Amino acid sequence: MSDPAAFAEARLAEDEAIAQRNIDAGLLDDDEKTGPGYPDYQTYRDDDTEAADKYLMCFRPRRMLREVEAGRLILAAHVPDHHEPDAYGVRICAVCVSDKSGGYAENWVMDLWPCLPVRAVLLSWADHEDYDPEWRP
Ligand SMILES: [Zn+2]
Repeated sequence: MSDPAAFAEARLAEDEAIAQRNIDAGLLDDDEKTGPGYPDYQTYRDDDTEAADKYLMCFRPRRMLREVEAGRLILAAHVPDHHEPDAYGVRICAVCVSDKSGGYAENWVMDLWPCLPVRAVLLSWADHEDYDPEWRP
């Protein structure tokens, strides 16, 4: 398994660069109705172009930047705990505890890392050639 955090940060940096390049070049921004690749809505306005318009509005550069920020916040909160690895060197999440069946907090079982929130962030790139299928939640 490659490093999930390094993989995620590389993908987030790619997404960030793509979004920022569009904003900086004035190609496509949240304030613009149209951009590269948009159909001619004045001529071909129907239910299909309406659906395409709503879909494309979900992938505006500033929204992508917010999603990059959200991904980084999740990754920063869910780091592998290197201070208390178990006897076999298995990494655990520093914050996630799904199994509290042990009663007292000292008996709770910390989740393995990458934990579910990190796996959820990684899922965005499940079709990437370097995505490890073992990361799938
Ligand atoms: Zn976690």
